[in-house]
Amino acid sequence: MAEIRKLKAAKLMKKVMADHFYEIDAAVKAGNPKVAWCTSVGPAELLRAMGFVVYFPENHAAILGASRTATDYIPAANAIGYSPEICSYLTADVGAYLKGFTPLAKIYEGIDSIPKPDVLVYNTNQCRDVKDWFEWYARRWNVPCLGIESYVNVGAVTDTHVAGISGQFKKLAEDLTAITGNKLDMDKLAETVWLSRKCSDLWRDVLEMATRKPSPLTFFDGTIHMGPAVVMRGTQVAVDYYETLLKELQEWVDEGVAAVEGEKYRIYWEGMPIWGKLRENAQLFLRLKTAVVASTYCNSWIFSALDGDDPWDSMARAYTELFIVRDDDYKEDYFLKMKKLFDYDGIIFHDAKTCPNNSNCRYGLPQRLQGKAGIPFVTIDGDLNDLRCYSEEQAITKIEAFIEQLGERK
Ligand code: SF4
Repeated sequence: MAEIRKLKAAKLMKKVMADHFYEIDAAVKAGNPKVAWCTSVGPAELLRAMGFVVYFPENHAAILGASRTATDYIPAANAIGYSPEICSYLTADVGAYLKGFTPLAKIYEGIDSIPKPDVLVYNTNQCRDVKDWFEWYARRWNVPCLGIESYVNVGAVTDTHVAGISGQFKKLAEDLTAITGNKLDMDKLAETVWLSRKCSDLWRDVLEMATRKPSPLTFFDGTIHMGPAVVMRGTQVAVDYYETLLKELQEWVDEGVAAVEGEKYRIYWEGMPIWGKLRENAQLFLRLKTAVVASTYCNSWIFSALDGDDPWDSMARAYTELFIVRDDDYKEDYFLKMKKLFDYDGIIFHDAKTCPNNSNCRYGLPQRLQGKAGIPFVTIDGDLNDLRCYSEEQAITKIEAFIEQLGERK
């Protein structure tokens, strides 16, 4: 069986991620600096500039999924009233907390629990679930929960949208000032936004390496290497990491190294990863000589609008331009743009049971793309964290048949 090729940078990434968790743990133990929880596409730049160390519970929930422990803990959240049909990041994370479990304690010696926050800060640009999730902890620990209420189904991002969100960012900074006791340093904010932009640009360059044929990386590599872009954007460490990764990928391209030996087909993955099945899925596509070259999910951490010279409006724009909050016309155009860029042969839509927000196959979008541009697609049923919603056998059969069908078209 073909082996999954590992990038050397993976070792460095492990260290970067370990440092991140140890930094937060040290802050909790020392009571300084203050700890903020942040949603994955929340106002991380502002929090860092205000001196918080920042923890991302979605990253924790993804670790629960990848370590296949999520399904053990989801029932504990269901038992206190959370439906099995809402976000399985939320239910896995809350359930694990209720049972006193965190995979961090297993991975990182000396860390015994998730960090208790001084404040929880969300942005509803991705979904309402994150707000409900954070409010649960806020009630539990009696700490403030603040956030940005975003627009949804946005077509063109207008100045009115930007002004609305920018105003909320400024109000959020005032409310956070009351928690830190320090006024926001605008130079620090500018610097953090620039660092975040650099990280974002480098991350985009990494992902666009997959436009090469053969591609040196796949979606499955992306889900692992995106860690620093999610949890450390706004820091020099993340920038340095992506410079290293990019260099290595460039070497692979120069030497003609393929992530999928004998690459025959190129696929776009739409929707969430199935965290507990990353390895199996990566191996399935290796066997099918298919490179999953692009995904909506990994692209979600590209924030090209960020501009340190105009931090408020640029943060507002960057966090409103996200794919997930856009209308279907925008999404259709986006897939066509990506088709040109990555030259993919077809799209796999992952219909994630507990994340309708990241499942774009429920309102006829795949069929419209097929009608307009002849893009073949297949939909598989599954979930990000709740493996009870994923029928592996059925998914494999569908994917195999889909690739065979692509072969007939070539
Ligand atoms: S976007 Fe989906 S996976 Fe992410 S927090 Fe919201 S419901 Fe959960």
